[in-house]
Amino acid sequence: MRVFKFGGASTKDADSIKNVADIISRFKNEELLIVISAIGKTTNALEVIADNIFQKNIDLAIANIDALEHKHRNIVEDLFSDKHHVIFHELKRLFDQLYDLQRYYCLEKVTIAAGYDYLYDQIVSMGELFSSLIVSHYLQSLGNATYWLDVRTVLKTDHRYRAGNVDWEVTKQLTQQKVLPLLTKQLVCTQGFIGGTIDNHTTTLGREGSDYTAAIMAYCLNAEEVVIWKDVPGVLNADPKWYPEAKLLNKISYNEAVELAYYGATVIHPKTIKPLQNKHIKLRVKSFIHPENTGTEIGVSTEQDKKLPSFIFKSNQVLLVIATKDFSFIDENDLSRIFSLLAQLYFQVNMMQLSAMHFSICLQHDSSKLQALLENLGKYYDIQLEEDLRLVTIRHYTQPIIDEVINGHMVLLSQESESTARYVVRAQQS
Ligand code: ASP
Repeated sequence: MRVFKFGGASTKDADSIKNVADIISRFKNEELLIVISAIGKTTNALEVIADNIFQKNIDLAIANIDALEHKHRNIVEDLFSDKHHVIFHELKRLFDQLYDLQRYYCLEKVTIAAGYDYLYDQIVSMGELFSSLIVSHYLQSLGNATYWLDVRTVLKTDHRYRAGNVDWEVTKQLTQQKVLPLLTKQLVCTQGFIGGTIDNHTTTLGREGSDYTAAIMAYCLNAEEVVIWKDVPGVLNADPKWYPEAKLLNKISYNEAVELAYYGATVIHPKTIKPLQNKHIKLRVKSFIHPENTGTEIGVSTEQDKKLPSFIFKSNQVLLVIATKDFSFIDENDLSRIFSLLAQLYFQVNMMQLSAMHFSICLQHDSSKLQALLENLGKYYDIQLEEDLRLVTIRHYTQPIIDEVINGHMVLLSQESESTARYVVRAQQS
């Protein structure tokens, strides 16, 4: 069996959903589990609604929910000519749930004791419920027997809202028990990104988490392959936004894919590879616009990893150069204090370097967290802050390639290992 994942760009309107159905029709006699993420930019819209609700901004919350309902309803109207089709009723029922949540949490007397992250998950998870319901009914209406699975009943996480940790044992057991028997008779269509706690609260796995859902399901069901259908031809050696000559990587290893994701390549969610690697399940990333093309195959073989250099650019970086106040060395106790502060604030360190008197760390800019970090570190250290930087990573580099990419930039920090060169740079002012 295979797991297919369709992201928001592949379901952004009625024509796109028809295209998804067309792709699925090419796999008529196969066992398929289809993982759907929210339509278009719905998750962003729901994040705004969660903020509106948290701030008890009732009018804005209602206006934004109305707009989202309108958008989904338009798609359903384009897809279903029978205006009495049950999808109209079921979509309304889901939106009513969202309005109910809004009404409840906006009540003056309701304090959201469980905090913002809990509220976020209850609201933002709705996007995948809407989209999977629409796609599932549409596939059914075309004559494909399709089962809509509420993934929250099988994909179980802990109570860490917005970043749920999967309970693998329970998830495997439930998935095998409930999903395997369904697959022999019909397509199974479910939601990416969301999960449920053992006491049935909704959680999410972190933004862009639907790829990860596909990998979790594939692992639990011992699938042969996961296919992520994208609006790009596959995994490219650079983001074409930064590097217009970007080329397709035909075949890379799990290891290379993890490295690329770790350094910031956004094409695959970083957590996706591990479950697949553990069971040697192949991952294919391919275009939903040209489904006949093979895309990128990710698997065990490392043979082609070095064929092309890859470039990863991360903008909006800051560099903190930390020094002791009394001219002493930075020692292990200092490092331990610095890292525990970073961990408390959930900062991910993108690059670091230690010298006798300085410890330099490159971080993604996040103004509220950065303020707290600077205040805390400032009690013990002198800190020099550099902002508006870019982190450039080159895998399988050569000197001419480094020269070409770095040319015209001031380099503030650099690191080269056997396969990877990294630079924190400031773009030259024009
Ligand atoms: N809809 C979620 C997001 O936009 C999950 C996903 O698309 O992978 O982050």
